[in-house]
Amino acid sequence: MAHPPAQPATLALHADDVLNNVTDVAPPIHLSTTFRYSDNPDELTPIADLSEKPQDQDPKQHVYSRVTAPNSTRFETILSSLLKGHVVAYSSGLSALHAALVLLNPRRIAVGHNYHGCHGVIALFSRLTGLQKLDLDCPAEQLEAGDVVFLETPLNPHGTAFNIEHYAQKAHSRGAYLIVDSTFAPPGLQNPFEFGADIVMHSGSKYFGGHSDVLCGVLATNRKDWYERLWGDRVYLGSVMGNLESWLGVRSLRTLEVRVQRQSQNAERLVAYLDGALHAFRPAADSDEAAVQGVLYQINHASLQRGDASWLKKQMPNGFGPVFSIVLRKEEWARRLPSKLAYFHHATSLGGVESLIEWRAMTDARVDRRLLRVSVGLENWEDLRNDLVAAFKALLKESTVEVLQQAIEAYFLWMNNIQSNLDWLGTYMCVWYRLRNSDRQSLSIDSILESTLYSGQ
Ligand SMILES: *Cc1c(COP(=O)(O)O)cnc(C)c1O
Repeated sequence: MAHPPAQPATLALHADDVLNNVTDVAPPIHLSTTFRYSDNPDELTPIADLSEKPQDQDPKQHVYSRVTAPNSTRFETILSSLLKGHVVAYSSGLSALHAALVLLNPRRIAVGHNYHGCHGVIALFSRLTGLQKLDLDCPAEQLEAGDVVFLETPLNPHGTAFNIEHYAQKAHSRGAYLIVDSTFAPPGLQNPFEFGADIVMHSGSKYFGGHSDVLCGVLATNRKDWYERLWGDRVYLGSVMGNLESWLGVRSLRTLEVRVQRQSQNAERLVAYLDGALHAFRPAADSDEAAVQGVLYQINHASLQRGDASWLKKQMPNGFGPVFSIVLRKEEWARRLPSKLAYFHHATSLGGVESLIEWRAMTDARVDRRLLRVSVGLENWEDLRNDLVAAFKALLKESTVEVLQQAIEAYFLWMNNIQSNLDWLGTYMCVWYRLRNSDRQSLSIDSILESTLYSGQ
């Protein structure tokens, strides 16, 4: 009996079975950069007689690891089935974006507040080609055929979502292309091709790696001609994934769906709790809700975009992503909060199984300095909630102590002033008294003052 088409959770474990060439169940790691040609002289074909198209290559044959290698081929094979497009993997998310720009070489790119590093790549490209940057929401008329609309959703570091279909229509109405940076919503949460994306980009360093130990990037496209070009360009860009990273990447993809959906669920629960506490009506003075209200100013996450439900529910049917952001009432608190948490590492990046928090001012010069980005991991969500609330309370307590200290200092300063005023009053009265009773001719004011002031010594 023929199987019906397998679901993503199954494909993550079996899409690369065709590449097995040893009996090991766990794929071996291949570190070699170079691979022996056949021992049979009749099987040797000179390169000039070979097709350079990726689909004409035997996926089990390799020559040199800047072209293809066993572990990265596995990684790409699995991802092609999960992303529903032809996948080319790169050494980082930014090198993937760079490759996309090399492919399309647009004259204009409409881009929002996207990840700051992507703006860095665009700036670099502008220096070489004169690429002009437009606002994401510029009038469509400013775009021309071959230009690019570059949408990131959900958006780093905020965790808020944008309507892919809207930007696809805008780009296509002008003959421009839509690239979606879908790093914050990997397969299992969002498929940008369904809503009109021409290229889907991921920083695989986040959820694909999933354990904070792999740097990589991915482009996916449904256009075969683009895939061939990307694949061929990469040989000369040289930005391939390393062998160890590819091996770790395959191991991570096995659990992608279950990780990402659970992390997203955890985030949604935390966000719902914090949002509820933030808007609780007159909480009791020592309650958790009062602590949340005392410290938190704002919370951002796609799950809170209630007005956007009509398109957002379709775009993200299985959850709104494991990253959200909070804005605290004071910059100083944003600096201090991470050091009070037990279950969130204070570090940049996201997507790992462990929860991270970052005072975003550490790496992004553009954002509100009161903002913290939270990447929710696989810990029990209530443990995470309790950790956050305890840290909020610690901040409030610390600042109560600080306020008290300041009040006490102010009090002493004030008392000191009174004391010295009283001293001066005393001195003045002494002088006045002695002047009144002295022989005004023989005593100068100076000498009386001197004898009064230093009489105590
Ligand atoms: C991290 C990140 C990138 C850059 O990816 P690297 O793998 O670090 O090069 C691009 N876009 C988004 C949304 C990111 O979070």
